[in-house]
Amino acid sequence: MHPEHFYVLPGNVSRGEVVFDKEEIHHITRVKRKKKGDVVWAVDGEGGAYEVKLTAVSSREARGKILHTRRRLGEPVAEVTLAQGVLKGERFDWLVEKTTEIGIRRIIPMLTETSETLAGPQKLARWKRIAVAALKQSGRSILPEITPAREFHQVMAMGASCQYRLMAACHRTGTSFRLSADSSALTTSRVLLVVGPEGGFTREEMDLAEENGFQLVHLGPRRLRAETAGVVFSTLILANLGELE
Ligand code: SAH
Repeated sequence: MHPEHFYVLPGNVSRGEVVFDKEEIHHITRVKRKKKGDVVWAVDGEGGAYEVKLTAVSSREARGKILHTRRRLGEPVAEVTLAQGVLKGERFDWLVEKTTEIGIRRIIPMLTETSETLAGPQKLARWKRIAVAALKQSGRSILPEITPAREFHQVMAMGASCQYRLMAACHRTGTSFRLSADSSALTTSRVLLVVGPEGGFTREEMDLAEENGFQLVHLGPRRLRAETAGVVFSTLILANLGELE
């Protein structure tokens, strides 16, 4: 069976040993019922993955001896950032979970003309917890960064440091999604994907995106819910970059 993954804070990895913190102790003992001697993976969210043999498992502590170390276990090479209009209710939670599983490196909750909700520190903390759970579940080793909310124009400016800047737009554009024939050459790319909130982008926002070198792309003839569009767009780009093979 695929060994279980647990999260360890980077500061709790020392030479030869990892020490799990309180939340993980609960997960290891109560949820997954691990015992001393079991072999599991510990991932530190910064690309470190450690195969460990548990040496102590109790309600107060959980630690393991490192057997093997791997860098960037389960990670795509491409660094894909998804800037998505903040969504109401639990829809953004869902987006964070799914795009973490798929392999997105950074998620930017974006405030746009039509976005109707904010993203305060409490939400950020919740999204981080969701991302940690998805990180473990999916076998990744880098925790996606979830930035504080950014304004649309700030996201536009970030595009300058990316080779690929793509905006998902329902109407107005004839371009369907294709990167290039030889997309494998792009695997080290930094990619910025921009997806609207429920109300979509305004004409001005689309114009601004084009002025900033974004390619407007459509994701097929059906109008998707915003969070579906975020997931579909992320999947398409990673597949095009050969990262889902
Ligand atoms: N009411 C809006 C729809 C917004 S859908 C309107 O009519 O414009 C929310 C976001 O999802 C959009 O801003 C876009 O970024 C993305 N999206 C949804 N379906 C899409 C599609 N078929 N192609 C490209 N982007 C899409």
